[in-house]
Amino acid sequence: MTKSLPFTKKQIEQVIKTYPTPFHIYDEKGIRETAQNLYKAFSWVYNFKNFFAVKALPNPHILKVLKEKGMGVDCSSMAELLLAQKVGFKNEEIMFTSNETPAKDYKKAKELGAIINLDDISHIEYLEKNVELPKLICFRYNPGPRRTGNRFIGDPKEAKFGLTYEQIFKAYEIIKKKGIKRFGLHTMVVSNELDQLAHIETAEMLFDLVVEISKKVGIRFEFINVGGGWGIPYKPTDKAIDVNFVSQNIKKLYNQKIVKNNLAPLRVVMENGRLITGPHGYLVTTVIHTKDIYKKYIGLDACMANLMRPGMYGAYHHETILGKEKSSKTQMYDVVGGLCENNDKFAIDRKLPGIKVGDLLVIHDTGAHGYSMGFNYNGKLRSAELLRRTDDSVQLVRRAETIDDYFATFDFSKF
Ligand SMILES: *Cc1c(COP(=O)(O)O)cnc(C)c1O
Repeated sequence: MTKSLPFTKKQIEQVIKTYPTPFHIYDEKGIRETAQNLYKAFSWVYNFKNFFAVKALPNPHILKVLKEKGMGVDCSSMAELLLAQKVGFKNEEIMFTSNETPAKDYKKAKELGAIINLDDISHIEYLEKNVELPKLICFRYNPGPRRTGNRFIGDPKEAKFGLTYEQIFKAYEIIKKKGIKRFGLHTMVVSNELDQLAHIETAEMLFDLVVEISKKVGIRFEFINVGGGWGIPYKPTDKAIDVNFVSQNIKKLYNQKIVKNNLAPLRVVMENGRLITGPHGYLVTTVIHTKDIYKKYIGLDACMANLMRPGMYGAYHHETILGKEKSSKTQMYDVVGGLCENNDKFAIDRKLPGIKVGDLLVIHDTGAHGYSMGFNYNGKLRSAELLRRTDDSVQLVRRAETIDDYFATFDFSKF
């Protein structure tokens, strides 16, 4: 099994004449297709929306494409709210799912008319005191021991997010008493989860809870937000989620639980980031050194500052050497960056074709939680971001950082 690229070596060589490596390049056509498939699969839902998690790929040019496809945004900080505003998202196109939130961020979210998703019961009072209660309120539910999570977010009862089962009833009672009339319910319990049943179960858990809370508290919900965390096939052997399969199963449960209990219409919305853009980003790098000691190393001009996932989680990212797509994988390498940290490795013991200095190495699936997790440790600068448009032209959508950017927070005149 293999993973393909949407561009040829020749096309990348052309791009490099203008934009030197390393850079992330995103494929607009792929992003649009993925968005379209998701919306088609969930077309049975009244007013379906994916609120794209801005943190996955916070670039206004990408957000603009997603807006054209009908998406909203999921923000969790002031900067993400401001970015959403700049792209033109407003009111209930913005979901504000944050935690440990400063009052000024809530104020901004309220000013934009965003849907505010509260992470704790104490935030009702915090909002009243510091801002004002919005007309529509959503709470984030943490099922704790009622649900076992996957290896990324882990055991829900060890997770810092959301309200407990007991608290969630109380929370809606409190806001009902305060005159709130519009309600949403949110959860997010998995990350990069490829198990389709897990996503169906999440919807089922929220449907059940909607039924229970509606009866007990005497309110009517507008929507459930099943969160993000849908996985993508990073490994050639991984199987992509069949969004139609998941959607049809959620629809069955919707009919059984929501329609039967006279709680329809209830919107089903989500906050997927990775699913939408993850597979459509590529980190293009140049091999600048090869090293042969106790192991064989390939040294790239990119490092963990451009893509943290392998170093931070041991995550697999597929690699392709341009022009050697069909060569047999006769060598075993560690593919590394230049940080003074031994976990700055994009791959460990990876079988690849023989590599020479100057080869172009492409790291796959960097379209989500790639550039955005970057940092400046060791004085490494963040790369450029390019967007390959649907007509195959390539647009610079964020320039590479310069040394001046890195020094911008120092005032050398006072030195
Ligand atoms: C990170 C995050 C998401 C998006 O996660 P993906 O893995 O990119 O789908 C959605 N909602 C919340 C609350 C998050 O923290």
